[in-house]
Amino acid sequence: MLEECLFCRIASGEIPGDMVYQDEEMVAFRDINPVAPTHILIVPRTHIASLEGLSDADEGLMGRMVLRARALAAAEGVSESGYRLVVNCGPDGGQVVHHLHMHLVGGRRLGNRLG
Ligand code: 5GP
Ligand code: ZN
Repeated sequence: MLEECLFCRIASGEIPGDMVYQDEEMVAFRDINPVAPTHILIVPRTHIASLEGLSDADEGLMGRMVLRARALAAAEGVSESGYRLVVNCGPDGGQVVHHLHMHLVGGRRLGNRLG
């Protein structure tokens, strides 16, 4: 855990988050500034700064994060209406919090443009 990292602190419970899922390797909580009715962040407990910090050993973790996002989409009732998974990486990718996270966004029709 990185003491100065916001998402490490939320994952550890030190800072409250609106948790929707937790297991030994990841947590999921609602975004504080949602852009759609469903806006959940899926976050590994381990501090990984971005996609660029991943190693081959994280292959399973990333797969389980995607499958967890899919399960959360079902729990939110947006499986059929659709949703988007986004991982921002680095300055041009628009990453603001430097702890890897996946956005699950749904519940309204999103535009086709990505940027
Ligand atoms: P990024 O741009 O890094 O991919 O997204 C960071 C996300 O974290 C943003 O959507 C932002 O609203 C969210 N966020 C920032 N601070 C907090 C916080 O303290 N709690 C929660 N739940 N979300 C946060
Ligand atoms: Zn962290």
